[in-house]
Amino acid sequence: MSQSKASPAASKSNAAMTLRYCTRCLEPSSRPGATFDEEGVCMPCRYAESLDGINWETRRKDLQKIADWGRARQSGGYDCLIGVSGGKDSTRQAFYVRDELGLKPLLVCCSYPPEQAADRGAENLSNLVEHGFDLHYVSPSPETWKKMMRLSFREFAQWTRPTELALFSSVVRCATSFKIPLIFLGENPALAFGSKSGSLDGDAKNIRAYDTLSGANIEPWLDWGIPKEKLYWYTFPSDHEIERAALRLVYLGFYIRDFNDIANGQFALDHGFMPRKGIEADPYETGSINAFECVDEDFVHVNQFLKFIKLGFGKVIQQVSVQIRHGEITREEGLKLARAFDGRCSDRLIENFCQYLEITTEEFWDVVDKNRNRDLWQLTNQGEWELRFKPE
Ligand SMILES: [Zn+2]
Repeated sequence: MSQSKASPAASKSNAAMTLRYCTRCLEPSSRPGATFDEEGVCMPCRYAESLDGINWETRRKDLQKIADWGRARQSGGYDCLIGVSGGKDSTRQAFYVRDELGLKPLLVCCSYPPEQAADRGAENLSNLVEHGFDLHYVSPSPETWKKMMRLSFREFAQWTRPTELALFSSVVRCATSFKIPLIFLGENPALAFGSKSGSLDGDAKNIRAYDTLSGANIEPWLDWGIPKEKLYWYTFPSDHEIERAALRLVYLGFYIRDFNDIANGQFALDHGFMPRKGIEADPYETGSINAFECVDEDFVHVNQFLKFIKLGFGKVIQQVSVQIRHGEITREEGLKLARAFDGRCSDRLIENFCQYLEITTEEFWDVVDKNRNRDLWQLTNQGEWELRFKPE
């Protein structure tokens, strides 16, 4: 990879931040919100361990009560709303809610601009429509979208902040507009991955606390010169508006025993979902070992690479941790995969990303250099960056 090289002086560090890994899976301590118990076991591992002891019949009844509540409260024709990308989780959610809970859902997709979206994403959405679901499509202006992505990349070395804001805000906005009382989200990210999510159960009303949303505040965007009238789909309704609409946000995954990446991926494949293929699924290229995750666009891999620079772990660490927790692979097998593929992102993907954002690759590597966490990275004698802490 043609990374720019920083001066050795820039790599000096007092090693204030260290990186350790869950003793069961490979969950890293640098993930915002990560917690470990006295045995060094992460919270998602403990949660996965507890699944067998949960009374799923009771949870199913609780979920049915929520479903009945939604059906009784709706006044716009739809019982609930699901934000979809056509991916594995939203496909499972849509079918479950309709076929198992007997609800009438409206699916809402906040789409990537055509320039960014992958064809397979559109095909996966068509797949849902062909299975009889109603789909409402929100397409925020590509120009503002790209401008905000570029700002976010330059400011945070994370392009997804505005797009995640739009994905979540548009879902809540559509629910209030269409008088739909109930929104189903997928997994609670705190239980599934150990990220911040604002709750440890099925209640998703504090979704603003979700790490990428950072409070879902549009003020910084106004300060950076994005006019308010361009921010409609990025503006999360206030707590007051959500309360007035008596809106309920629920993590569906909390109520389903096997709602996880592995089972959802299989379910989606069995129901017409199209995964990545060929070079787009090559872990050397993408830094991902899972061909059915985040398939609707390709810059996700660049974002995972940037996370690797800032926090010392990429997508594969998360993917193998899920697989270890669910008994699909051993920790040793996970380690091999993580060592081989974590943090990879091809020059081709980075060049495509720069071309789309209309920035030079020099600027890309400057941002990488500025954001490289010197507590976690060090320069070798050959002038290459390497992680000070490796999973073991
Ligand atoms: Zn763990």
